[in-house]
Amino acid sequence: MFICNLCPRKCSVERKENEYSKGFCGMPYNAVVARAALHFWEEPVISGKNGSGAVFFSGCAMRCIFCQNLEISHKKYGKTVSQEQFIDIIKRLEEQGAENINLVNPTHFTAFIRSALEKYKPSVPVVYNTGGFDSVESIKSLDGLVDIYLPDIKYFDGETAKKYSACENYFEFASKAVLEMKRQVKTDIIENGIMKRGLIIRHLVLPKNTDQSVKILNWIADNLPKSTYISLMSQYTPCGRVYKYRELNRRIVSAEYSNVLDEFERLGFENGFMQQRNSADTQFIPKFDLTGV
Ligand code: SF4
Repeated sequence: MFICNLCPRKCSVERKENEYSKGFCGMPYNAVVARAALHFWEEPVISGKNGSGAVFFSGCAMRCIFCQNLEISHKKYGKTVSQEQFIDIIKRLEEQGAENINLVNPTHFTAFIRSALEKYKPSVPVVYNTGGFDSVESIKSLDGLVDIYLPDIKYFDGETAKKYSACENYFEFASKAVLEMKRQVKTDIIENGIMKRGLIIRHLVLPKNTDQSVKILNWIADNLPKSTYISLMSQYTPCGRVYKYRELNRRIVSAEYSNVLDEFERLGFENGFMQQRNSADTQFIPKFDLTGV
């Protein structure tokens, strides 16, 4: 029997192999996958030339109201897979030439993923691409199995995290998880423009919320090296259930993104990924149609 306390929600509910659970994420123990395909819209060191082998998991331990992947995160569209099927999915992506195996939103399937990676370690790096709401214990359990951590830090203030993602304690957990990720990967390794090992912290700049961005950048500056890779994303597009919050019902404006970039410069960071604001478009949302599953 698997009683789930994987993420900070600590639901303590039973998760059976193929039965949707009563936990916050609502997922079974086995992974539910909506798409597994080469993906070209990550940071250049992740997508590379051939594309990142992205495995999109369904369900979510956060369910942000502005989620672009509502269909799979909130509505749970996807197919349950066994460990053998999951390993086959990974092998097919490797055969297609994927630069890495990119586990997108894996937090609520960490136990299943760990067990699969213990049976089969891909020949390309494994990327743990998370919203950041991970427990330290969960991240520790992946030590030696994950090569690249790609966490979001979404919010600094509890009030904001509560309002948009119903997790007031988000930063407390995300910050500890990121420090554990850094402890594991130590130095970033990039060969021929492709990351082989390392940490990239992502942050999506939200309209009317640049104070969160500034606080997060200051925390990174105080706690991690200035060489830390930071991806400042400007692609926010009103999606999901944002109609509840007027401030989220528009894209960010140039001045907002510039303020955040200025703070990045002021703090002396050395490595960053920036975006053109015109990259904000729903056309970059992949089709969740069970491709590759
Ligand atoms: S992974 Fe799902 S069931 Fe487990 S603690 Fe988190 S939300 Fe609850």
